[in-house]
Amino acid sequence: MTPDAELCGRVHGLPQFPVRARFESFGPAERRRRALRFALPLLLLSVVVLPVPGFHLSIPFLLGSALWVGRRRLRETEQLRELVGECPCGRGPQAYALPDGVALPLLLRCPACREFVRVESAGSCADGKERCETSKVL
Ligand SMILES: [Zn+2]
Repeated sequence: MTPDAELCGRVHGLPQFPVRARFESFGPAERRRRALRFALPLLLLSVVVLPVPGFHLSIPFLLGSALWVGRRRLRETEQLRELVGECPCGRGPQAYALPDGVALPLLLRCPACREFVRVESAGSCADGKERCETSKVL
């Protein structure tokens, strides 16, 4: 696990608040293992459907999907595991739903009050508070 990254949550008309992101990083062996774990079932499924008439037409799709998923997992060096921040309406710490694509700024909904929260790197906070030293690029 890599150390937490401090991000900044912002809601229109309310003071900004810190959002903490926790990442899991993968070494080369772990990346290969993850690629195999995701691609192997698709490869095995393509072998299973090979003798079945009609279903054999799905083999190019299955092999292409296995290649795409495997390459994607092989290149993935870290993954966002947790995103925790205060509720902008004062309902305490909330675990925000993890987005599919991680690129800042993120637009997420608070699970408690359903308010849209814009999550940015801490360095882009307008007030320039003490948490500007850790601006992690996602
Ligand atoms: Zn909320």
